[in-house]
Amino acid sequence: MTYTETHKLLVCLDCAFLLANGEMGGEATEEETATHVAMMDSNWPAPWELCSGDSENDHDFSWSSCDACGSNLGGSRHEAWAMLPAIGAV
Ligand SMILES: [Zn+2]
Repeated sequence: MTYTETHKLLVCLDCAFLLANGEMGGEATEEETATHVAMMDSNWPAPWELCSGDSENDHDFSWSSCDACGSNLGGSRHEAWAMLPAIGAV
């Protein structure tokens, strides 16, 4: 796969869980998970792809908004990547 553009993101814990495991940690309901995925999709619509980054680059605490879902709740921030596949790449 070739990517034409990549952006480094700092995402909230919920997004980090979703990118790593496909589900949110804790007690999140299916509805909450779907809402969160929808927020990520609206900020990074297809063909953008999000993937988790290196946990060694995580930040302990930040008030900056999540780069994936846009949440501005304070909390830990985790490295992730947004990647734009090259047209025609498989
Ligand atoms: Zn988030």
